[in-house]
Amino acid sequence: MQRMPRLTAGYFFVYTIQMEATLTPRCPKCGTEVSETDIFCPHCGFELKPHAIDTSVAKQVLIYSVSFFLAPFGLHYAFTYLKQSDERARMIGITSLVLTVVAIAIGIIVVQQFFSQAYSQLDLINSVTGF
Ligand SMILES: [Zn+2]
Repeated sequence: MQRMPRLTAGYFFVYTIQMEATLTPRCPKCGTEVSETDIFCPHCGFELKPHAIDTSVAKQVLIYSVSFFLAPFGLHYAFTYLKQSDERARMIGITSLVLTVVAIAIGIIVVQQFFSQAYSQLDLINSVTGF
């Protein structure tokens, strides 16, 4: 009866090692254990997260502002973020793309209205002057 706890402890030890092996991320290049938050391997410098992209609120505000107020330049951000595998980054990309399209649509409507007003005023002048 004395052996049981030792055996259990032994299994637990093996189990812990196996869990450790599957859960601890390792550098694909040199095999060194790395932390989840590491972007580069501390041992060989291998880039673990090649596209660790900024999804902070400040960055989102910048991207959405550029997408809306400087419409065509937002497309660069939109496609960069859409290419990411991260769900959050893709949502930012989609939002940026939608804002760009909306901003361009508004721009086209404003320009069209400006010209139609200009033309109607021109027509008015023409009809008054008789040309
Ligand atoms: Zn490494």
